[in-house]
Amino acid sequence: MSLLSSLDQLIFHNRFVDAFPADKITENYPRQVFNAAYSFVKPTPVSQPQCVAYATDVARCLDLSADCYESAAFTQVFSGNRLLAGMQPQASCYGGHQFGHWAGQLGDGRAINLGEVVNQQGQYWTLQLKGAGLTPYSRRADGLAVLRSSIREFLCSEAMHHLGVPTTRALSVMLTGETVIRDMFYNGNPKAELGAVVCRVAPSFTRFGHFQLFSARQEYPLLEQLVEFTIATDFKEYQVLPKEQRYLAWFSDVCRRTAQMIVHWQRVGFVHGVMNTDNMSILGLTIDYGPYGWLDNFDFDWTPNTTDAGERRYRFGNQPAIAFWNLAQLANAIAPLFQIKTQPKLVAVLTSFNELFAHEWQKMMASKLGFSAFDVSEDHELCSELFEVLQQAEIDMSLFFRQLADVSLDNEGCDDDLTLFNDVFYQPEQLTTDIQQKFIGWLKKYRNRLLKEHYVADRKQRMHAVNPKYVLRNYLAQQAIDKAEQGDFSMVKDLLALVQRPYDEQPDKAQYALKRPDWAKQRAGCSMLSCSS
Ligand code: AMP
Ligand code: MG
Repeated sequence: MSLLSSLDQLIFHNRFVDAFPADKITENYPRQVFNAAYSFVKPTPVSQPQCVAYATDVARCLDLSADCYESAAFTQVFSGNRLLAGMQPQASCYGGHQFGHWAGQLGDGRAINLGEVVNQQGQYWTLQLKGAGLTPYSRRADGLAVLRSSIREFLCSEAMHHLGVPTTRALSVMLTGETVIRDMFYNGNPKAELGAVVCRVAPSFTRFGHFQLFSARQEYPLLEQLVEFTIATDFKEYQVLPKEQRYLAWFSDVCRRTAQMIVHWQRVGFVHGVMNTDNMSILGLTIDYGPYGWLDNFDFDWTPNTTDAGERRYRFGNQPAIAFWNLAQLANAIAPLFQIKTQPKLVAVLTSFNELFAHEWQKMMASKLGFSAFDVSEDHELCSELFEVLQQAEIDMSLFFRQLADVSLDNEGCDDDLTLFNDVFYQPEQLTTDIQQKFIGWLKKYRNRLLKEHYVADRKQRMHAVNPKYVLRNYLAQQAIDKAEQGDFSMVKDLLALVQRPYDEQPDKAQYALKRPDWAKQRAGCSMLSCSS
C-alpha cells in the first residue's frame, strides 16, 4: 500500500450527505431546521493559519504521507481555508438533553463535517473541523474555538486512543490568526484569546441527540432512516436480522459499547465533565472534549467542570449512572420504531446495561489489582475499602495503581510496602495514624488476596498494561497551553509523544508522571474548567 503524496489524492465518498435530505435553505443564519439531517455550510476563511501540531498516526489512517502533512496545503485545508475536490461541507442537525433537561435543537454550532474519506483499506473516516465558523446551528454563539480548548481536545483524543479508550481522533490543531473573545468563567472578565481549529476524525460523529431530535419532532421516517443507516455503515453484522430484532441487537450493542467506554474512563480516571446526550457517540466513542479532567487525588465526587459545580451531575462516580440515563433517553427516542408489544424487550435490553456494566467493571478492577478474575466473595469489599482509603488519604490515583504492581509478596515485605507509596499522598503531613493503619491493613488484605492467585509471575507486567504511567494530567496540558500561547509549540509535541506510549516507563520523561504540584490545585485550567471554549 502506498501513501498519498498530495491531499488532492484523497478520495471522498460522502455517504451521509448522499443518503439524507439536506436543509433546503443554503444561506448561513441561525434557524430551526426541520425534515433534514444537515445544512450545507462552508468553513469561514481565516487570515493567518499556522500549524501548531499534527498526529502522524491519524494521518496514516487517511493514508497521508509526510509530504501531505508537512505541506502548506495541509495548513490551508485543515484551518478551513481551502476545500478539496470531493468535500461537501455540512453541519448536522441534532438535539439533546443538557444537564438533565431537554434542550431542543442544538446541532453542529461550530463543527463542520468536510466529508468522508475512504482509505486504501476501504475504511471510512469523517473529517470534521471544530471552530471553523458560524453554521445555522450556532444559535447566539460565534462558531469559533480558542487555542487552549483546541490543544486540550487534540492531546486528549490522542491520549485516550493510546490508552485503549474508544474515542474520536484528532488530526491537527491550527491557529487561525484571529482572536476570539471569551469570558472564561462567565464572571464578567472577557478576554481576547487566540482562535484555533481542530480537525477531528472518526468513523462517524453521530450522537444520541441526532436520534432524539428526529423523534422529538416526530420525523419518524428520518428517525428510521438514521437507525438503518447507522446499522448499515457501522453495525453491519445486524443487517441480516428481521427489523425489530435488528434494532434490538443494535441498541444492545450501543449499550455494550457505552458500558465499555465508561469502564475505561473509570479505569484511567477520566472525567468527561459534560455527559449531555448530545455529547454521547452512537459508536461508544469518547466525544467532545470540553471541561474534562483527570483525577489527581482519587475522588468519586470530583468534577473539573465549574459550570456543574453545584449539582455535580457529571462527577467521576456518577458517570456510570449518567450513561444509563442517557441510554434511557436514546431508548425513548427509538421506541416509536417498535410495536407496543415489543417495547418491553427494548426496556429489557436497556436494563441489562447495569449487569453488563457491573461485569465489565469487575473485570477491569481485577486487572487493575493484578487478579486473574474478580472474586465476588471478597473483592467487592476489598475494592470499597480501597476506595475509602484512597479518598480519605488523598492519594494520587495513577501513581497508586502503578506502584501497586511493586508490592512484594514476601511475608516480611509489609513495611517496605508502605515506603513504596511515599510519593502518592497529597497531604502527607495530615495523614492521621488511623488512616495510615487503614492503609496498612488494606495492603495486608491485598497481599493475602494476591497469594491466592495462581499466576503471579507476570503480575507486574499485566498490571502495568492497564495502569498507565502517564495520563494527560490537567496541569501538564495547561503548561503546554501556556507555552503555545507564547508561540512555543514544543511542549504540545512533547506531550503528544508522551501520551502515545502511556504504559511505557519512558525514563527521560519521568517528570511528567509526578503528582499535581501545589500551584496547580486552584489554578484555572488545571482543576477548574468551564464550558467556555
Ligand atoms: P457543548 O457544550 O460544547 O457540547 O455544546 C453544546 C451546543 O452548543 C452544541 O450545539 C455546540 O455546537 C454549541 N456550541 C458550543 N460552543 C459554541 C460556539 N462557540 N459557537 C457555536 N456553537 C457552539
Ligand atoms: Mg457538544
